[in-house]
Amino acid sequence: MEVKVDPSVVKTRYWHLLDDGRVQCDLCPRYCKLHEGQHGLCFVRANEGSELVLTSYGRSSGFCIDPIEKKPLNHFLPGTPVFSFGTAGCNLACKFCQNWDISKSRETRTLADEAMPDKIARVAAEEGCRSIAYTYNDPVIFHEYAIDVAKECRKYDLKSVVVTAGYVCEEPRREFYAYMDAANVDLKAFTEKFYWKITGSHLKNILETLIYLKHETDVWFETTTLLIPGENDSPQEIDEMTKWVVKELGPDVPMHFTAFYPSWKMMDKPPTPADTLVLAREIAIDNGVRYAYTGNVHDKTGQSTYCHQCGETLIGRDWYILSEWNLDAHGKCKKCGTQCAGVFEEKPGHWGSQRKSINMMSHA
Ligand code: SF4
Ligand SMILES: [Zn+2]
Repeated sequence: MEVKVDPSVVKTRYWHLLDDGRVQCDLCPRYCKLHEGQHGLCFVRANEGSELVLTSYGRSSGFCIDPIEKKPLNHFLPGTPVFSFGTAGCNLACKFCQNWDISKSRETRTLADEAMPDKIARVAAEEGCRSIAYTYNDPVIFHEYAIDVAKECRKYDLKSVVVTAGYVCEEPRREFYAYMDAANVDLKAFTEKFYWKITGSHLKNILETLIYLKHETDVWFETTTLLIPGENDSPQEIDEMTKWVVKELGPDVPMHFTAFYPSWKMMDKPPTPADTLVLAREIAIDNGVRYAYTGNVHDKTGQSTYCHQCGETLIGRDWYILSEWNLDAHGKCKKCGTQCAGVFEEKPGHWGSQRKSINMMSHA
């Protein structure tokens, strides 16, 4: 009898068998303990045959080319197009999830687009992208798939960009970031209460990931905080968070404060007022953060990059359009010569604000 092998189900290595016969997943600090046939909270990892498998390898919720600023990354190859994709599921349970149609999907085996790593990298290169982003849902849960795509990317001189909540265990984190070039890490709040009550995860683990990235890797990273009225937007909390960032990560890590819109299980909160974002940015700058941004609102002042030495506008931004460029070929301020932190090329990209959907089926 012919046994049909499902290529989207692959073996994994971060798990162990428990004495009671269950399998414990050791990929993220949730440590799901699974009976035969059971799926973890992320849904894409499961106990099949007393082994922990990933069930969404080579399956995506869709492919799209975005400006890199949309991830958001403002100091990593500005103005360039990034080939973006995600899968299904998530290892957090954020009540305010802005991508819940993907992250809560249980349809892992009927995901719209099928693509193996070599094809993703090749199509991204053919489309003129400079990088690939693992995004929409957290790539931590499709660890093996993301790493294989990142390996293929290197063959095409494409960079790998992670958009993540940073909720991952130490050993897989080390393996994962060995293949990644840049990251945007959510710093969703600065209280354990918020993290546990609203996201079902722990602040401590996220801070560990940030410290790891800063001190043990060359990965360029920025942080994003979605400010939710009455939940994580108090000036005191922003003050504590930004002081911690400067002390532990240094002044050069860009911080994005972005607007919340009612979503998923949090329809009872109003959208974030623009003033809240402006205030958060000011607090960050007062505490020594050199590059602080507002996001999800139209705010040229709050989205442009300034020289921390002389105040010159280094990169002007109007939404995702770069309106000014005053960096020299080495990423230094043209006016005073001070280095701007980040990864820059001689010239910025010209992708603009386009969002282009990609149909993988139309590529051979
Ligand atoms: S990666 Fe998924 S299965 Fe593993 S511990 Fe985290 S939520 Fe559970
Ligand atoms: Zn300057």
